[in-house]
Amino acid sequence: MMNQQPLYFLNTLSRQKEEFVPINPNLVGLYSCGPTVYNYAHIGNMRSYLLSDIVRRTLEQNGYPVRQIINITDVGHLVGDADNGEDKVEQAARASNHTVADIITQYKSAFLSDLSGLNIKTTETIFPHASQHIAEQIELIKKLENKGFVYHLDDGIYFDTKLYDKYPELGHLNLDGQTAGTRIEENAQKRSPADFALWKFSGLQSTRLQEWDSPWGVGFPGWAIECSAMSIKYLGAHFDIHTGGEDHIPVHHTNERAQSECATGETFVNYWLHNAFITVDGKKMAKSEQNFYTITDLVAKGYSPLAYRYFILGAHYRSPLNFTFEALAGAKRAWQKINNMVWAWPSGGQCDEQLLTTFMTAINNDLNTAKALAILHETMNANLEPSTKRATIEKFDEVLGILNEAEVLSASELTPIPEEILSLVQDREIARERADWGRADLIRAEIEAKGYEVEDTPEGPAIKSRN
Ligand code: AMP
Ligand code: ZN
Repeated sequence: MMNQQPLYFLNTLSRQKEEFVPINPNLVGLYSCGPTVYNYAHIGNMRSYLLSDIVRRTLEQNGYPVRQIINITDVGHLVGDADNGEDKVEQAARASNHTVADIITQYKSAFLSDLSGLNIKTTETIFPHASQHIAEQIELIKKLENKGFVYHLDDGIYFDTKLYDKYPELGHLNLDGQTAGTRIEENAQKRSPADFALWKFSGLQSTRLQEWDSPWGVGFPGWAIECSAMSIKYLGAHFDIHTGGEDHIPVHHTNERAQSECATGETFVNYWLHNAFITVDGKKMAKSEQNFYTITDLVAKGYSPLAYRYFILGAHYRSPLNFTFEALAGAKRAWQKINNMVWAWPSGGQCDEQLLTTFMTAINNDLNTAKALAILHETMNANLEPSTKRATIEKFDEVLGILNEAEVLSASELTPIPEEILSLVQDREIARERADWGRADLIRAEIEAKGYEVEDTPEGPAIKSRN
């Protein structure tokens, strides 16, 4: 049934909340920049795939079938994140003595398994590889060349950003202050600092592991042309929604938009949605900062990926969110309680339409998942038949995706750690701080004798019941 409430997205392009009007209500196009498969994705990256999942589920709940694309960047993303440095995938292959194909397969499959743990829908999602769409990328560059948007330099073919008036729009960029050479290894030959490579030559770098012939010489594509070529191929020159992390606004997405609109002469994307960062101690979670965790790390510490999903949904996607294990533990408790209650209620009830309308109003208001979760909690405590509550929450879950019957814990698992044990753990911490290892071991033995286990983690002691 078509939800009749209007759906609003905050569009990065206009900085305004706009009502969503599909190009074709029978198939909405959704493109999300996917992972560069040179390493494991971290839980910060996962926020951007959770965003595209919530967008997809919301569209579906509103009655729109969705065609979703998440690309796999397996070539052309350079260490410098712009047009300089080694290719990230090739660097990983060399460092580990594996083939490029092995690296791509390993990290793509880890990525897909993270998506599945996070209950991110992938039915019918297309995951195109950049390296398998080189012909489409060359075609797009040829179009740009024929229209006069490119110039040739010693190391590659570049897009002339000055020829596209709308270049600064998406990122609200002020390009006047930019001068060439501000970035390390900036190509001094470029006409403007914002110009970017569409195709780079292998040149004397005979060590390239992935390279292709092209009308301009042997080489490999720029990172942004890949996304343009794949999105246009699968969604058409003009499509509905493009998502990604906010770091992509000023360069990667700005470049995608510029080259796509100049090549096709059409508006590229109607709605641009960007998530803010997951931070740690106020700093962006990033591989380069060494402050990241993966989904596998969370699982090893006893957290279901769905508890992380719940943690993410507790904040609006455009607000930065600081990650701590304390906050995750809080999210886990709340999420666990929902699963335990909902699955204990009888099935077969009727969804409460009024609550559903309130829920959809929140979700349709630029994906206000925090408010939607508050409505879920109100529903749990509402004075309604348990079967009605279950049916209503199951309906909410078509968007939220946090329920999983297999995660229901037995009463003993849910029992809180007794004060006595907590106090022993605290005494042990004090002994450890004083380097009184003998006493620390004695207390550990006492804790174990009382049926609990303590494990020392970088975030502090983790306590578990032994039964
Ligand atoms: P990458 O593999 O580096 O291209 O990143 C994949 C996606 O994760 C992109 O949409 C990035 O914008 C996003 N991203 C990277 N770091 C973070 C972070 N700390 N928090 C949220 N999103 C991020
Ligand atoms: Zn992209």
